[in-house]
Amino acid sequence: MTTAQPLDVQPTPLALLLLGRGSDPRSERGVECPGDLPAPSDPDLVARARAAKERLGDRVFVLGHHYQRDEVIQFADVTGDSFKLARDAAARPEAEYIVFCGVHFMAESADILTSDSQQVVLPDLAAGCSMADMASAEQVAECWDVLTEAGVADQVVPVSYMNSSADIKAFTGRHGGTICTSSNAQRALEWAFGRSAPGAGKVLFLPDQHLGRNTAVRDMGMSLDDCVVYNPHKPGGGLTAEQLRAARMILWRGHCSVHGRFSLDSVDEVRARIPGVQVLVHPECTHEVVAAADHVGSTERIISILEDAPAGSKWAVGTELNLVRRLANRFADQGKEIVFLDRTVCFCSTMNRIDLPHLVWALESLADGKVVGRIRVDAETEHFAKLALERMLALP
Ligand code: SF4
Repeated sequence: MTTAQPLDVQPTPLALLLLGRGSDPRSERGVECPGDLPAPSDPDLVARARAAKERLGDRVFVLGHHYQRDEVIQFADVTGDSFKLARDAAARPEAEYIVFCGVHFMAESADILTSDSQQVVLPDLAAGCSMADMASAEQVAECWDVLTEAGVADQVVPVSYMNSSADIKAFTGRHGGTICTSSNAQRALEWAFGRSAPGAGKVLFLPDQHLGRNTAVRDMGMSLDDCVVYNPHKPGGGLTAEQLRAARMILWRGHCSVHGRFSLDSVDEVRARIPGVQVLVHPECTHEVVAAADHVGSTERIISILEDAPAGSKWAVGTELNLVRRLANRFADQGKEIVFLDRTVCFCSTMNRIDLPHLVWALESLADGKVVGRIRVDAETEHFAKLALERMLALP
């Protein structure tokens, strides 16, 4: 379990948590900032962030996830997806403070992979991830009991997406499983199935059903009937023992609230609107959207496909809007037309909680010797989560 400051506050009603107020230390939604934030209208915010970062020098290393706002990204020492950023932080042992401009599970991963002398800071502790929040430690433990009662647990290898809490990563490590990213999900599944006799193995894929299904069906040739969805809100996951015994992929009923918004209608509409457009989507999108797309890839892959695209090509991209907007601007003068796949705005609302006032607040506090928003994973959770992460690093 992660500890986040302050821990002595009482849980608040859901409505307040959704607004980022109050506290639920057991939830990815985190807690509210205890300090005074600078006003968003302060015209000196950029200068203040720059000055605080200069005061800190090499003692601070700022990580910026691809989905962060431009106003924050401009202060990132490095940008990337969550796993790349965690590894970048581990490669900078001289940095006493790692300021993670991303969401809660990412900061936890950075804490797991960095040394004990490094402190990981999340500028807004309310920046959680709705997908990671869809699988709690208790729910997953209950699921394992269900699998045990159905007599299949000894055939099941858990594979958990990087976008999961430290608790879920630790569960995965304890039960002989591995973590995966959207880039290596196929290799992780092949490794997991390879641990059992041919045809006998099963995977419990957490917490994103879409990445699990898309990888199994699109990339590995399984059928949709090989997959079942475990619903943690129903007794027994809403599945019979027979269904669990017949399944190869047991998909946790979780999804990304951003990528889950894209629909087949979005794909049809953009194809009608922009003749010749190529549709490029993230594998967290639903199976029907992925099946209708021309290209599917992780965030890093989306960027490299667009880098290699010829001048004059047209693209509709289905991933977070901050990134798509940045890519559209970056490639506009190369004659590449890049549009957002959906007509409606589709930011990750929790990622967007990290704004310039929060970054200034975190950096100035650190420069004044006060560590705020620290994310700390306890030693036992870290041990087992690291085991699962190391299995991923050792994947063939
Ligand atoms: S984009 Fe989706 S998976 Fe990523 S942090 Fe936001 S809700 Fe979580």
